[in-house]
Amino acid sequence: MSAQQPANQYLTRGAITPGASGAPSPLRPEPMPRCQGAPRRTTTDGGTVGTTLPSASGNRCARGPGGEGLIYVPLMAAASGAVPEHFEVGSTVLRREVLHGLPWMEQLVTVVHDDGHCPAVLLEPGSRLTFFEHPFGPHPWNGQRAWMSSSVLQVQRDGDAHSVWKFFDLCDTFTHWYVNFQAPLVRRVGPDGGGVFETADLGVDIVIPPGQAWQWKDTDHPDAMVATGRISQAERDDIQREATSVAAQLDAGRRWWSPWDAWRPTEPPPEPVALFE
Ligand SMILES: [Mg+2]
Repeated sequence: MSAQQPANQYLTRGAITPGASGAPSPLRPEPMPRCQGAPRRTTTDGGTVGTTLPSASGNRCARGPGGEGLIYVPLMAAASGAVPEHFEVGSTVLRREVLHGLPWMEQLVTVVHDDGHCPAVLLEPGSRLTFFEHPFGPHPWNGQRAWMSSSVLQVQRDGDAHSVWKFFDLCDTFTHWYVNFQAPLVRRVGPDGGGVFETADLGVDIVIPPGQAWQWKDTDHPDAMVATGRISQAERDDIQREATSVAAQLDAGRRWWSPWDAWRPTEPPPEPVALFE
C-alpha cells in the first residue's frame, strides 16, 4: 500500500505551522451517534471501566525490523520497587503521559492482554482523564473530564517509540488504525498498588483507513514541539527515525499488529503471531 504523500515527506523540515501543536485535526475522531444496536458495556462514571476479558496465553510478541537500532532515552528512569512483569488482564491501570519527568495527564484503561512484552489496553468512552499542573503549561486536552470518543484498543511492543491504536465506533465496529508515536512504555506501580504505563506523546501520527492508503498526520508537530521546548532536537531526530521505519514497513505491507485485525472489544484477545523473527 502506498502513502498518499511520499514516505520521506516527513523528512523535510518545513516551517512551523502556527497553532499546529495541540490544535484540533480533521483526522482526530469526533464523538459519534450512540449505537442503536446491542446494549453497550457498562463504562465509567468518573472512575473505572468495566470490561473483563479472559487471559491470553503467554506468547511473546515478536519484534519487527522497525524496532531494531532505535536509540531512545526514556523520559524517566526505570521504576523502583516491585513492578510485576505483567499486569493482570481485566484490571484497570493508568496510562500516564509524562513530560520532563513530571506527570501531565492520566487516563484509565483496561488491560486486554499483557505478556510482559506486548501489552494491549482498551480506552473506553467515559474513562476519566486527570490533568496535572505542569511547569510547561496545560496539557493540550486540558479541560476534558473524560474520553468522549469511542473505544480504542492500544497495542505496543517493548522498546518501540510508537503504539498502534485500533478505533471502533460506538457499535464496536472497526473504523481505522492509527499509529501514535510516543515514548516507549515504562511500567510502574502506583501508591495504591495499581499498574501504570508511562509514556509521552511525540506529535506525529499515521492514520490507516481500511482499504485506503495510509496517511501522515501532524507531521509539523515535532518541530513545533522542539520550538516550544517540549522535546529536544535529539528526541525529534529519534521520532524521525521511528516514523520513517514504520512508514517503510507499511509500504512493504508489514503490520506487526495484524493478529489484532479481527478483534473487537467483546472478544478475547487473539493468539499473538510472530510476524518477524
Ligand atoms: Mg499522537
